[in-house]
Amino acid sequence: MWIGLDDTDSTFAGGCTTYVAYLIISYLIKEGYVLIGYPRLVRLNPNIPWKTRGNGAVSFQIARRGREKFLVGMNYGKKIYGYRNIEEDCDNHGEIFSQVKKILEEEARLNDKNTNPGLVVSKKKIGYELYKKAVKGIVFLDEVTSLLDKNGALYIGYKNKRGLIGAAASIAWNPVFDKTYELITYRKKEKIGSKREIDDDSVKIMDETIKTTFDNYDYINKHNRIKPNSPCPVLYGIRGDDTEDLVKAMNIVKSEEFQGWIIFESNQATDEHLQKKEKIKDVKPFESVIVKGTVYKEPFTITGGHVIFSIQDAYNDTIDCAAYEPTKEFRNIIKKLRKGDIVEVYGGVREEPFTINLEKIKILNVAKIVEKIENPVCEKCGKHMKSVGKKQGFRCIRCGAKAKREKAKFTTIERNLSPGFYEVPVCARRHLSKPLKRIMKEA
Ligand code: ATP
Repeated sequence: MWIGLDDTDSTFAGGCTTYVAYLIISYLIKEGYVLIGYPRLVRLNPNIPWKTRGNGAVSFQIARRGREKFLVGMNYGKKIYGYRNIEEDCDNHGEIFSQVKKILEEEARLNDKNTNPGLVVSKKKIGYELYKKAVKGIVFLDEVTSLLDKNGALYIGYKNKRGLIGAAASIAWNPVFDKTYELITYRKKEKIGSKREIDDDSVKIMDETIKTTFDNYDYINKHNRIKPNSPCPVLYGIRGDDTEDLVKAMNIVKSEEFQGWIIFESNQATDEHLQKKEKIKDVKPFESVIVKGTVYKEPFTITGGHVIFSIQDAYNDTIDCAAYEPTKEFRNIIKKLRKGDIVEVYGGVREEPFTINLEKIKILNVAKIVEKIENPVCEKCGKHMKSVGKKQGFRCIRCGAKAKREKAKFTTIERNLSPGFYEVPVCARRHLSKPLKRIMKEA
């Protein structure tokens, strides 16, 4: 039996969909059900205008009995196990639906006009196609409800019901190509909303010791990335490739005492939102793309510190690319680009202004830039000749002698930019963006 939920939290009223799932899982285990596998935290299209923060949705599978248990978390000292295989499934999905619905209604921040929760309970797994569309594009509510009806799922959407999209898409995800994990710790009830006590130095030690984790700490911008800024129940979240290492990492971090923790399997840091576009004219707003092109308009800085340049593809179409102010030192790389450089840009597409918001850039070729430093000297008069026009030859204004353009003195400008992959710093990293640390490991 699959359970999916989404859109239960609020930027001002707190809450967190992963926490609601944690409470539901703890409750269902108490009621005698078992968790199959890890719960899943699935990030969807990061360019959806109506997302609260990171467009995350949660799903998990339960059964009556399972085989081969393993530890996935703790709640107030009580161990939470996941099971690798189903021994006996449950068929009472009506009962489960009403129990889960009750918890969701207690926990969801329905007073926020932007919170539109969705809950799905389905005996069948939802087809992968829905996830693919939801992570890369825009999905309409009626597509989802008709799919859920076809699957015989039970579901409820609150207010504009949009949460149903994420809830169903999360169930539809399968780690077909790649996956990561996130260990999330939850604060004690009485602490929620107060300043989080996490020792930054211990986070740095954890980051340096546990190599399979990533995006923990931004050393340049002094930003502790595992700690959220919102008033939500999460104390911190550590992301990584290995579940045992995540538990070791948690034991290194020094912090206030917490209620418990759980590990989510996730599509975070997998680049699954990106689609390669051969032609700029096929790039659409709200998508995330990889596009190759030649630098056409050189970078310039606009008010607010955002750096903009444009690229041109092989079909002469151009598109603006932006390294916004929050991308900090990444902008220094972008500022070095010059006309003729060949790059592959990775990022989300903004509708207005129509721009690729950069997450990463691969510099494929750094153009050789040659600059004229001195006009040729007239052999007869011994004086510098004058240029006849742009990219043309020279003439002596005294005797009229002519010289070819190549007779001038040129120098090759030092570019101070090397081909390679560059990414925004940890403090500006998007949930779905695959860090170079993971990309390099695969190479
Ligand atoms: P979180 O805070 O948990 O990281 P979020 O709060 O940013 O995530 P939500 O509050 O879940 O995001 O809001 C996103 C809304 O957009 C949800 O209702 C979700 O169902 C919907 N949604 C997600 N992906 C798509 C998509 N591809 N097309 C249409 N709607 C989507």
